[in-house]
Amino acid sequence: MKNAICKKWFLVLLISLPFFTNCASYPSAYVNESSAEIYAMNTLISLTVWGQDGKEAILDCENFIYQIEDKFSTTREDSELYQLSQAEGSQWVDLSLAVAEVLEYSLRLAEQTQGNFDPTIYPLVKAWGFTQDSHRVPSQAEIDSLLPLVDSSQVELDMENLRAMLPTGMELDFGAVAKGYVADELTDFLRDQGFNTAMISLGGNIYAMGKKTDGSLWNIGIQNPYGGGAIVSVQVEDKAVVTSGGYQRYFTDNGETYWHIIDPSTGYPAKTGLASVSIISDSAKYGDCLSTALFVMGLEDSIAFWREYQDFEAVFVTENEEIFITSNLAHAVASGYEATVIY
Ligand code: AMP
Ligand code: MG
Repeated sequence: MKNAICKKWFLVLLISLPFFTNCASYPSAYVNESSAEIYAMNTLISLTVWGQDGKEAILDCENFIYQIEDKFSTTREDSELYQLSQAEGSQWVDLSLAVAEVLEYSLRLAEQTQGNFDPTIYPLVKAWGFTQDSHRVPSQAEIDSLLPLVDSSQVELDMENLRAMLPTGMELDFGAVAKGYVADELTDFLRDQGFNTAMISLGGNIYAMGKKTDGSLWNIGIQNPYGGGAIVSVQVEDKAVVTSGGYQRYFTDNGETYWHIIDPSTGYPAKTGLASVSIISDSAKYGDCLSTALFVMGLEDSIAFWREYQDFEAVFVTENEEIFITSNLAHAVASGYEATVIY
């Protein structure tokens, strides 16, 4: 760990920070700008495109989001994911292409992250009351009884016939990947429609498509988990910037804080000394899965993971309010805070 980090830099505030926290600075030329804000997938979503016929494209995007929400909801009894989770155990259930693709991707990422991201986490998420905001601390006996149900290696997926089979009691949760999936699908769609510039924010998880219309890079602020605006900003084009943090959803009980990111190996909220993990990547669903997985892994294992894969960049904020950034980001980052660069 010590030699993992070769240099400590003070990243001076190189540029003034014309962004809002977990938001982006918009192009100065508001040419043919179309935007919408909707509440869906339990979060505030904002969509902005620049170009001809943006309004129609935005409407198509909104419809797509509502369709995905209908399919992926864990609480609506008519959603496809709910039906799959509640189906009699060990029976094949037919899937739509969207659910099958996200499940296939999630199983792959569960393997890649050695189960730190696991889409079968839902029984535990439910036990902690994070689905209906009815928070509670489950007993150790309850957690022990649910842990065997969290094991994505037991999911059977048949992509040829678009169907899946879960053991009895296993339930799925796409909460850590769905926003990324939607961002990727929307940007693919917008590119196909001929748009070069768009800004998509799903509850602060950002996809910055292309460059700003004035040709400059997007300036994305990463929120300080302890409040007070952005802690770091990254300059990007065609990138997702996705953050997982304990501060995003939590409750306190008897002076203890419990948050919504669960360690699949213990059944408890993941406490590894990290306050937030932000991933900067080409694919938003990759960033979404990884931000959750690395939050569970902790800093040391995350650094090893980054070194092995080298296909994303990351910003870590610890509970001691220290900032760590991967080296390829150093040139793109501005911060008024001291940050340690990871090589
Ligand atoms: P995110 O905000 O992307 O980190 O996703 C957190 C959400 O994903 C939670 O609200 C849960 O619904 C679900 N979740 C929690 N822990 C995990 C985990 N270890 N793997 C996969 N999904 C998780
Ligand atoms: Mg995630």
